Amino acid sequence: MKQFINVKNYLFGEGASSKLHETLQSNPTQGGRRLFLVDHFFSDGALCNSLKIDPSEVLYLDTTHEPSTNSIDEIVGNILKETESVTAVVGIGGGATLDTAKAVSNVLGNGGKAADYQGWDLLKKPGVFKVGVPTLSGTGAEASRTCVLLNAEKGIKLGMNSDFTVFDALVLDPSLSETVPREQYFYTGLDSYAHCFESLQGSYRNPIVDALSEKTIALCRDVFLSGDMMSPANREKLMVASYLGGSAAGNVGVVHPLSAGLSVVLGTPHCLANCLVMNVMEEFYPAETDTFLAMLDAQGIELPTGVCKDCTDEEFERLYESSIVHSKPLENALGPEFRSILTQDKVRSLFERM
Ligand code: NAD
Ligand code: ZN
Repeated sequence: MKQFINVKNYLFGEGASSKLHETLQSNPTQGGRRLFLVDHFFSDGALCNSLKIDPSEVLYLDTTHEPSTNSIDEIVGNILKETESVTAVVGIGGGATLDTAKAVSNVLGNGGKAADYQGWDLLKKPGVFKVGVPTLSGTGAEASRTCVLLNAEKGIKLGMNSDFTVFDALVLDPSLSETVPREQYFYTGLDSYAHCFESLQGSYRNPIVDALSEKTIALCRDVFLSGDMMSPANREKLMVASYLGGSAAGNVGVVHPLSAGLSVVLGTPHCLANCLVMNVMEEFYPAETDTFLAMLDAQGIELPTGVCKDCTDEEFERLYESSIVHSKPLENALGPEFRSILTQDKVRSLFERM
């Protein structure tokens, strides 16, 4: 039985971000400082200015690298040096920024270090009031009950999976994704598509997850098979798809484990890594791979090629190990004997074709 938890309230629509301050009024803890964590793309200050955010309340995040336990501990450490406590955290950006906001709120509310809460249901208390304002659609981080962090010491990438991780409120404004570079928009948008088709093709199913996933896929098909994936109407549709896909949060299958392998061994960003994997998935997901190829074609997106061409035998072994370790999704997709299908040679040949 799956227990669902949803974001309590959200604003949706073109221009919704102009109401951000009203959303913050619903914070039960008034007083104290607010901290706006904003993707560095917006560091010219124009967006914060238009949203009437005081520059002294803003921390711009360099999202070149995915968030880590260390990056979270550093932000929290700096907050705790100030005398006035932070009572609201707002994340304005893509999945990396939203996950950072969720993790900072959680650690502020629970104390200790970020790594203490990587796993399942380890948070004991709600974090400080947190609001998500996505500027890039696809990961579903705005709706999910996790925030994914690299942990260099342990060599893992793991989320704080907890009901307390869910945002208290969202402001979903499709106008904010207008400036996303086309490739990035495509890669991140396709994360919604991958989450949902992997879930629908798996054996661990739930009727509500299925319904949300089906709608997410239909929206992704509309957006990425149309002439202009970034038209205002399509950016709005993709924002809905991302939210529904994140709310579905079903079990993934073959794509995400191999994608994790690329991220762990080669540092490939999550959403690009998914696309590299989907490009060679015809044996496992024939119809979805055809659709994916048609989407690439419709949008004129060229994926990087030969990403593993310089890999050593030792790296191929690590690619295999860091993929096959994800037994739950692989079992969901291929059954308990997944290791006899995804042999080391098979996995290597897939990576060689990416
Ligand atoms: P991202 O947040 O890493 O951003 C990618 C790039 O897009 C950055 O260079 C950023 O500056 C730029 N960008 C963002 N918004 C922009 C805008 N409006 N205009 C111009 N540029 C903009 O990308 P992402 O793909 O959204 O997120 C990836 C992260 O999400 C990873 O860290 C991954 O682990 C995480 N993730 C989380 C969940 C979850 O449920 N919590 C699920 C999947 C992935
Ligand atoms: Zn994903």
